[in-house]
Amino acid sequence: MSLVTAPGVAPLATPLEDAHAQLSDAIGFLGYPDGLHQMLATPRRELTVSVPLRTDTGETRLFRGYRVQHNFSRGPAKGGLRYAPGVDLDEVRALAMWMTWKCALIDVPYGGAKGGVAIDPRQFSTAELERVTRRYTSEILPIIGPERDIPAPDVGTDEQTMAWMMDTYSVSTGYTVPGIVTGKPIALGGSQGRASATSRGVTHIALAALQHRGIRVEGARAAVQGFGKVGRDAALFLSQAGLRVVAVGDQYGAVHNASGLDVERLAAHVAETGSIVGFADADALGGDELLELDLDLLVPAAVEGVLHEGNARRVSASVIVEGANGPTSPAADRVFRANDQLVVPDILANAGGVVVSYFEWVQANQAYWWKADEVETRLADRMRGAWEQVVAYAEASDLSLREAATVLAVERVAEAHRLRGLYP
Ligand code: NAD
Repeated sequence: MSLVTAPGVAPLATPLEDAHAQLSDAIGFLGYPDGLHQMLATPRRELTVSVPLRTDTGETRLFRGYRVQHNFSRGPAKGGLRYAPGVDLDEVRALAMWMTWKCALIDVPYGGAKGGVAIDPRQFSTAELERVTRRYTSEILPIIGPERDIPAPDVGTDEQTMAWMMDTYSVSTGYTVPGIVTGKPIALGGSQGRASATSRGVTHIALAALQHRGIRVEGARAAVQGFGKVGRDAALFLSQAGLRVVAVGDQYGAVHNASGLDVERLAAHVAETGSIVGFADADALGGDELLELDLDLLVPAAVEGVLHEGNARRVSASVIVEGANGPTSPAADRVFRANDQLVVPDILANAGGVVVSYFEWVQANQAYWWKADEVETRLADRMRGAWEQVVAYAEASDLSLREAATVLAVERVAEAHRLRGLYP
């Protein structure tokens, strides 16, 4: 992702700069030496590939693809695959690093990875996306595998993308390998509850955070930015929990209704038209205005860097729960802390997806599948357990929730480094 400039302020930091700043803060708190800092800051492996596509009209187009394995000291690397036009190596590096901390914090036996292809999936047919996915998968094949690195869906990809990846990998090995990806369709060995797991986790954490702040859930005003795999179900579950979801946004705009949106009808509108824009029973709103509404809860669930130095002072939500990865810059974090606004960091708030991905991988490796309520109970346990740990650590050490979560995670990864020793 390139540098962006908000009106009247200096260029904003990139996601990778934000990720490095968060790590440096944690390292400073832990007092680790420079050598260990460098090891934790630097990806173990990075692969850049060319992905040629034969389009439906017979032309050849070339896209760049990436897979970054930030760390695998605690287990195989794990992380999503993103299709978006702005994807670049630095963005993928940042997302891979956040995955390492997330997996360590939620205590699943994985390191962190991320992949991406710089393509706008909305411009291509299903057949073209299948060819891109299969070619990308075959290009990164030497470094992925159920014991090495396990992709999952992220922005611009979905369970169909995972089905094509699994098939391409399985064809190359000569037998079916369901554990190569998570977020697969249930008919191919996907887990019950995976599709909505990130949103369920966001909801568990949002309810805990509101309670922590003494805010009554019933009727609390919430806004959700992003109405994709994470944002849509988060908005739905929050409204089912009794909150008033007063605004929702996507990349095309935002809609607002002070009495609360009918999220199910909004989802049906999006399924039909491809966007929230034009939804009846709501007023149109600018995307930035959504962030600045008078709210109890704000859930950014779209892209990185949306809460920054340029707008943080205008954001008034009491609680911010990060459904997206990296939505808040370190400068914005400082503003929110000074104003006593509670920010629940991405590596905790949106970890539900990787928790159920882990469950899916365990089920696939054992060829034994769990019921939906078993998945949900175990997910809720993990999310609440991690929430309590982070809150207790933050209070005991006078840290923000992000600082506490990052310190806890970095400590666990550093402990794995120490125990394994340095080869040779
Ligand atoms: P998605 O592609 O399904 O949906 C993205 C949504 O964000 C869409 O509604 C899109 O219109 C909207 N959007 C894109 N750019 C925007 C902008 N500039 N302003 C407002 N809205 C914009 O993606 P997703 O899987 O829902 O992922 C969303 C975020 O959550 C990402 O940061 C992703 O890394 C993170 N995340 C996803 C998962 C998962 O399981 N899918 C897990 C953890 C974290």
